[in-house]
Amino acid sequence: MSDRASILARAEETLRPLHLAASHAWWDSSTSATEEHERQRVEAELALSDALADPDLYREVSSARENGAEGIARRELDLLYHGLVPNQVPAEIRHRIVELEASVDSRFTQHRATVLGRQVDDNEIRAILRESDDVAERREAWEGSKTVGAAVADDVRELARLRNEAARGLGYRDWFALAVDTMEMDEGRLFETLGECDRVTAAPFARWKAETDVEVARRFGCGVEELRPWHYEDVFFQEVPVTGSVDTSEAFAGADVVALARSTFDGIALETGPILDRSDLFPRDRKSQHAFCIDIDREGDVRVLANVEHDSYWADTMLHELGHGVFDLGFDRSLPWLLREAHLTVTEGIAIMMGALAQESSWLRDVAGLDSAEADSLDAALRRRLAAESLVFVRWVLVMTNFERALYADPEADLSRTWWELVARYQLLTPPGHRSEPDWAAKIHVACAPVYYHTYLYGHLVANQVRAALEREAGGLVGRSAAGAFLVERLFRPGQSVRWDRLVEQATGEPLGATHLARTIEAGLGR
Ligand SMILES: [Zn+2]
Repeated sequence: MSDRASILARAEETLRPLHLAASHAWWDSSTSATEEHERQRVEAELALSDALADPDLYREVSSARENGAEGIARRELDLLYHGLVPNQVPAEIRHRIVELEASVDSRFTQHRATVLGRQVDDNEIRAILRESDDVAERREAWEGSKTVGAAVADDVRELARLRNEAARGLGYRDWFALAVDTMEMDEGRLFETLGECDRVTAAPFARWKAETDVEVARRFGCGVEELRPWHYEDVFFQEVPVTGSVDTSEAFAGADVVALARSTFDGIALETGPILDRSDLFPRDRKSQHAFCIDIDREGDVRVLANVEHDSYWADTMLHELGHGVFDLGFDRSLPWLLREAHLTVTEGIAIMMGALAQESSWLRDVAGLDSAEADSLDAALRRRLAAESLVFVRWVLVMTNFERALYADPEADLSRTWWELVARYQLLTPPGHRSEPDWAAKIHVACAPVYYHTYLYGHLVANQVRAALEREAGGLVGRSAAGAFLVERLFRPGQSVRWDRLVEQATGEPLGATHLARTIEAGLGR
């Protein structure tokens, strides 16, 4: 066995069982938040990060990488290297980071806001902001959604300091720079892409927002200038308000969104049964309120955690999470274990593309069984909403990514002020007066999925670009088995054997950009 092969074999032998244990522990603590499970999770994550911190392995991998490895072995070494780098920091700092992340995450899982003297979960807050015409109640619900921020803010700042200390010890400017680099992204290129996205969305977003504000102000009988964040329906304004937009609830009356998601994938010849059998899909106490998909073992044990209610939101979410799931089931099993994973941007792209189906007229007709004439009559409004969602989401990512860059540039800064400046600039929201609460910390990603949000933006770009390629090459998506085959062959099977940006370019025939996103927006809103 060559030196290089033995390094890779040893790395896999060490990391694989630790990875497996950490996945199980994560699943257990998310489905049942007990002290015991949290302890096990921290232990498993520490063991994995201890292994990734091994200085000998790091030295061996670095030198093997410099000795001209190519092809599959080079990809393995690259991924291994990028996994090792963030862990080459003193054990004390590393341990403190893992413990703090787990503690913050657990507080998010257990936190319940109080609205009108009653404890409510995230689904109830969402319901109030969707349905209530009582502005005082809405304001309490919105403010309640932020109380978790105050509970964790000090620790989130501390996490940023610790991450920066770790990054600087490795020669990076700060954690932001390290995170982007080890995700195989170029920071300059990232901000060029953000700039491109800002340019193609600024004017249509401003137009859409002005029209929406007129509707929202009419609903609450106030002036447009009186609108504040709680007048909208999402606590971060990261989703399009349902009000004044198209109503697809008829398609979901009495529907089973899990079954709908399943038959969507059946229609493109991608199996989801093995995933659903292992999943935990409905709300319960002491269970994570979020949704995620996890590949436990890279050998077919793929699961989804969700808190399904039978509505459009959860239809989107189930399609999204199962989009991740079929990706994980689609890796070429003959690939080395290290390469049997997806780059975040590409798997997010597929998940976003699948989730978006829940608001396409053809999906509502062919999968959800909406009357054909009804579906046709909704088509223009649905395209408009899809465009609006892209706009709203891109503007939100601009807030998050710019905020995170600022957070790591200076964790001691007046972050509430930075947050609201970005929200006003990119989302065109009017900040509540005199608010100095740490609202930025109420977004779980800032603490627990740091410097991750821009991958969603790339995901949006991938979704639009892959969708365009499917229209061209498979005649569409819903009900097209050729679409499933395209996805498996060109995007799922290769895993990480090809670098993500090259993979997208190979699959779609063009480098990743905002062209197709701009077209989706134009098709929905007009010029
Ligand atoms: Zn996702």
